[in-house]
Amino acid sequence: MSATAGPEEVEFLVCNECETPCYMFEMDKKGAIVSAYCGACGSDKPEDFRVPEYEGDE
Ligand SMILES: [Zn+2]
Repeated sequence: MSATAGPEEVEFLVCNECETPCYMFEMDKKGAIVSAYCGACGSDKPEDFRVPEYEGDE
């Protein structure tokens, strides 16, 4: 039982356009988004997505 959650372990991206989690994406070794696709709004531009940040404190 080990938790390996970190910046390098991204399970999904969040679409900036519609705030939908997107699981179809590629990232390079540095954690930069190479490609992504949002099935909700159809966006496929990497710059339209972001890595979800830890949500706790503001
Ligand atoms: Zn979207």
